[in-house]
Amino acid sequence: MDLQLSDQHVMFRDELRAWLKANMGRPWREELRDPKATEDSMIELRRSWQRKLYEAGYLGMHWPAEWGGRGTTEVEKSIFEAELSRADAPPILNVLGIGLLGPALIHHGSEAQRRRFIPPMLSGEEIWCQGFSEPGAGSDLAALRTSAVVDGDHFVLNGQKIWTTFGPWADWIFVLARTDSKDRYGGISFILVKLDTPGITVRRLRQITGESEFGEVFFEDARVPRENLVGQIGEGWRIAMTVLAFERGATSLAAAERYGRDLGLLARTCKEIGRESGAVREKLGRLLVENEVLRANGLRMLANLADGKVPGPESSIEKIFWSEFDKRFRETALDILGPGGQLVRTSAEARLDVDWSREFLWSRAGTIYSGSSEVQRNIISKRVLNLPQEGR
Ligand SMILES: Cc1cc2nc3c(=O)[nH]c(=O)nc-3n(C[C@H](O)[C@H](O)[C@H](O)COP(=O)(O)OP(=O)(O)OC[C@H]3O[C@@H](n4cnc5c(N)ncnc54)[C@H](O)[C@@H]3O)c2cc1C
Repeated sequence: MDLQLSDQHVMFRDELRAWLKANMGRPWREELRDPKATEDSMIELRRSWQRKLYEAGYLGMHWPAEWGGRGTTEVEKSIFEAELSRADAPPILNVLGIGLLGPALIHHGSEAQRRRFIPPMLSGEEIWCQGFSEPGAGSDLAALRTSAVVDGDHFVLNGQKIWTTFGPWADWIFVLARTDSKDRYGGISFILVKLDTPGITVRRLRQITGESEFGEVFFEDARVPRENLVGQIGEGWRIAMTVLAFERGATSLAAAERYGRDLGLLARTCKEIGRESGAVREKLGRLLVENEVLRANGLRMLANLADGKVPGPESSIEKIFWSEFDKRFRETALDILGPGGQLVRTSAEARLDVDWSREFLWSRAGTIYSGSSEVQRNIISKRVLNLPQEGR
């Protein structure tokens, strides 16, 4: 197998590198550490950065041209993500719209929905959040109870969503709601809902990092046009599975770039503060090896996606590996740095230093969202090891 980039891909990568050099402002870590930064200012920064990428034709690149894409392959998309990670570019704002809803509309939406929703999703004019989880339905998503009752040419929604990333800033939410209370999977529908609809309230949830990008969304007799249904009534579960397959897609290559960079910074700090014992070297060496395993997992996922294969249980292996590695990496960094790991340096020479304690706190999230590690292990047990379905 040839793992080298082709000449055409090298050209694409080099053009992108040059574009980033000319157009990107400060690295994301510096933006995060700016004492003047607020959550709102960071949201606006991410929105304007997304707009810049969109105008340069870098968003939704692998989608068909008629829906705003460039019709490139998964390989260019993956190079794009890895290069942004390598440059420590700010993340775009509409991660959930472009990452999850876009593929769902491309595979299951109507032509009218694609034309209406995809362009403002790519440009960042309309920000989306994902309304799947509920207080009693997370890993067991099919237990969801938010209801959507047909009333003429509207649905009437009642219920509550939770852990809604970007809920406080989003314009729209894609909701899984129950249209039939008796059919566990076939009674779920996928509905697009404008968040300023009367009867909807969004409340912020503050998390352990001090940020509050999550929200809770409450629906009380919220009326939503029937034309906002994606697919048919009762097809929501099938559509959600497409969305989740994309959520668990090939993220490891970009992640390996980020960890590689952070590992270099950690090694540099260790040198600067004289932490170079055998035990420290062993820990750093182990992280480097694990990062290469992560990269290999990413290449495998990419090879499958590039061949047009729908991600199978290997996506669970990839998800567990990067999220558990993220925790190990951040814990190891704090372990090596000791109390100094709690500090964030702001001097010009230390421009790219990492806020290790924030990264440590944030790493707790990766093994929960998009299917917890326990759930991924269950999938692997069943689909790779052929063990019977666990009892509920
Ligand atoms: C950073 C972050 C962002 C998120 N963003 C969104 C979002 O935008 N939209 C959205 O809808 N949701 C979002 N979520 C919610 C996320 O999808 C849920 O937290 C996740 O599905 C787990 O559900 P839960 O929190 O209800 O935990 P539970 O499902 O109650 O799980 C509790 C514990 O039990 C374990 N467990 C559950 N079932 C099993 C089983 N069958 N076998 C073994 N162990 C099991 C779990 O692994 C976990 O350790 C986000 C979560 C996080 C952390």
